[in-house]
Amino acid sequence: MTQMPINMDHHWLPFTNNRLFHKEPQMFARAEGVRYWTPEGREILDGSSGLFTCAAGHGRKEIAEAVYKQLQVLDYSPHFQRAAPISFELAEALSGILPEGLDRIFFGSSGSEAVDSAIKICLAYHKAKGEPQRTRFVSRAWAYHGVNLGGTSLAGMVNNRRDFSGVTCDVVHMRHTWNEDQRFTRGQPQDGAWIAEDLEEICKTYGGETIAAVFVEPIAGSIGTIVPPVGYLQKLREIADKYGILLVFDEVITGFGRTGSAFAAQEFGVTPDVMTMAKAITNGAIPMSAVAVKTEIQKAVIDSITADRPELMHGYTYSAHPVACAAALATLGIYKTEGLFERAASLSSTFLDGVFSLRNLPHVHDLRGHGMMSGIQLTPGETPGAKGSLVQRKLFDEGLHVKATGDALIFAPALTTSEEDLSMMIDVLQKVLGKAE
Ligand code: PLP
Repeated sequence: MTQMPINMDHHWLPFTNNRLFHKEPQMFARAEGVRYWTPEGREILDGSSGLFTCAAGHGRKEIAEAVYKQLQVLDYSPHFQRAAPISFELAEALSGILPEGLDRIFFGSSGSEAVDSAIKICLAYHKAKGEPQRTRFVSRAWAYHGVNLGGTSLAGMVNNRRDFSGVTCDVVHMRHTWNEDQRFTRGQPQDGAWIAEDLEEICKTYGGETIAAVFVEPIAGSIGTIVPPVGYLQKLREIADKYGILLVFDEVITGFGRTGSAFAAQEFGVTPDVMTMAKAITNGAIPMSAVAVKTEIQKAVIDSITADRPELMHGYTYSAHPVACAAALATLGIYKTEGLFERAASLSSTFLDGVFSLRNLPHVHDLRGHGMMSGIQLTPGETPGAKGSLVQRKLFDEGLHVKATGDALIFAPALTTSEEDLSMMIDVLQKVLGKAE
């Protein structure tokens, strides 16, 4: 383990209180299974699968070997007017687990890139169909869709948008689906499908024919796991169809088994027109993301251009990086051979029992969860977010890593977590959240 003093002056950490971090650095130097180790060798259980990335646990040899092999065979290949066979293999494998009809795949390197690519694809589609006036987007309060300019515009977590006005695009926000009456609901709240009618209201106010797409996270993840009420996503689908608006599911967190199905679309029985995914696509080992679109969307865009030029003027140097493709194929292989989506479905009940055992602890205001994803809302302190940050640091001191956003903890361990490790994680949560002060 590294024991050398580290010069921390030069790395500007993202989404971090850098001043506090320099005083109390919390670092990981090694990982395996559902455990991290600090540079000093202290063991930390991973209660958030890294950042919802490492669904199959850390240190998977199959992925390391596939990456090493690919680096030796083809380390990089450009994807503008060129391609490598491995990206077609991956696109085919992904279309095999996606909802039927979502079978055309565009690759990027991060969730934020996937979201901004999806925005452009929606615009290109409407233009191709002769409706270039559809330039407005609808999103939802409390939404997180990454940090590029399109995703920043869609953001419903206002702190992520507030400092960047002037560079964002035209977005109207629906209400979020949470309310006080739903506190401590396990799974989907029964009441709330009617909240989807916000979309209808927006269509009437702004003109449905001006709207390109509505973006939602099927389960709002980053804000602290808000599970959609029964019938809500179905209702969005209905209204989107009525007004010719594309429905986009941002499955950057919910994809790859997190809900107990391959994707939340299958879990909740609603097929979007466009879906974004990232994180667990490579088990977090190599940056990669993808946008899946319905066959007819890609066809419309491609058929609309007859000149000898690219149909979609969009792409990244690292689109479909062959090493990322190799990592993703190895990851999909693990999910399949170990039946991890099914395991998530069967472990969910034990997982949620553990989460809901925290109900009466002094710092717990609300608990939510579905599949292997949960939100622990802390009782509000004087300054919003201060308690979340404090509790997150205390959990780390007690040996548990959990992602915190504001005053919510997002507890979502790997789909491979043993019942024994799960119960150790819950013990740490009970200890820290049970302390009165
Ligand atoms: N969309 C959703 C729903 C996310 O949860 C995230 C990240 O947490 C993103 C997009 C952005 O992904 P990235 O951080 O890889 O850019």
